[in-house]
Amino acid sequence: MSVLKTALGSLGTTRKQPGMISQLQSSFDRYKCTWDECQQRLPGDKELRDHLSAHSVDALAHWACGSICTWQGCKFKAKFKTTHQFNTHLENIHAKPLLCTRSRCTYKRPFKNEYELERHNSSKHSAERPWECPYDYCPSETRAFARKDKWLKHIREVQHENDAFCLYHHCYFSTIRAGKGFEDRKEISTHFNLWHSGRAVDGYGCALGSCGNTGKRDRWHLLGLQQHLQIQHKIVLGLDSLQTGLKGTDHIFRSQQVPFDLYNKWIDCEICASQTLQTPLGNTTSTSAQFGMAPI
Ligand SMILES: [Zn+2]
Ligand SMILES: [Zn+2]
Ligand SMILES: [Zn+2]
Ligand SMILES: [Zn+2]
Ligand SMILES: [Zn+2]
Ligand SMILES: [Zn+2]
Ligand SMILES: [Zn+2]
Repeated sequence: MSVLKTALGSLGTTRKQPGMISQLQSSFDRYKCTWDECQQRLPGDKELRDHLSAHSVDALAHWACGSICTWQGCKFKAKFKTTHQFNTHLENIHAKPLLCTRSRCTYKRPFKNEYELERHNSSKHSAERPWECPYDYCPSETRAFARKDKWLKHIREVQHENDAFCLYHHCYFSTIRAGKGFEDRKEISTHFNLWHSGRAVDGYGCALGSCGNTGKRDRWHLLGLQQHLQIQHKIVLGLDSLQTGLKGTDHIFRSQQVPFDLYNKWIDCEICASQTLQTPLGNTTSTSAQFGMAPI
C-alpha cells in the first residue's frame, strides 16, 4: 500500500477522485518494470527510467554478438549482429520504450525505431489524409495519404488487383477496347496523376445520359471531365466555365449543366450506352468485381 500511495502521490491532486480508480490503476501499472522476474513498481517516470537502464546494463553484459535479446521476457526473437543494433533495441523497446503518445491510441507496444513510430502515426493518426487509394482491394495497411506525392508513390509501388487497366469506368472500357493496358507501374501513376484526383473533394464525374445509369464515377480532374464531355458527348466547354458551372455542386455533370445552345445537340456516351445495353439490370456491382475476369 505504501508503494501505491507514493505512486498516487506522484499523479497530482486532480486525479484523486473516487471515480477514477481504473485510471489510477493503469497509471500505477505504467511504472512497472518490464523485466520478467522483477516487475517492480516504481513511483514515477524518472525512477522507472533509471531502474530500466540498470537492467539494460545487465542485459548488455549478458549479450554476445549474434545472439538474441537478453532482456528477460523479451518477445523479440531476431538475432542482433552488432552492439549498436542491440543497443538500439534495448533503448527503444526496453529502457526508453518508444511508444505512441496519442491519448486514445490502442496500440500499447513500443516501436523498433522512429521510422516505425512515424509510420504508425501517419497510418493511424493523421487526421488530414484526404488522398485515398482508389482500389477496392488494397493489400497495404496505409490506404490514405496526407500528400499527393505519397498517394502517387503508393499507386506506383503497390501492386493492386487488375491494375494493368485504369479502374475508372470510362478509362477502363476505352482501354479494354483499344486492347492495351499500362506498360509498367510508372505509367499507372502517371495516368492517375494526369487524369484522376485522389481526393473526393476535387474529383469530377459525368452523369449525363447513359453515363448516369452506370452509377460509376471517374474522379477525374477537371481536364478529364472536359475531355470526356468533348469526346463522348460532343459538348465543348472551357475549363473555366466548366468549373464555374459545377461550383457548389457534387462535381457531377448532369443535363442541367449543358449550355443552352447545346441542349439538343449533345450525344450519348458510347461507352456507357453499350454497357447499359449489355447489362440492363443490376449493374450496381463494383467495377472491381467486373474485373474478376481477366480482360481479353
Ligand atoms: Zn526491474
Ligand atoms: Zn528485447
Ligand atoms: Zn498510436
Ligand atoms: Zn492501395
Ligand atoms: Zn483512368
Ligand atoms: Zn458522360
Ligand atoms: Zn459514359
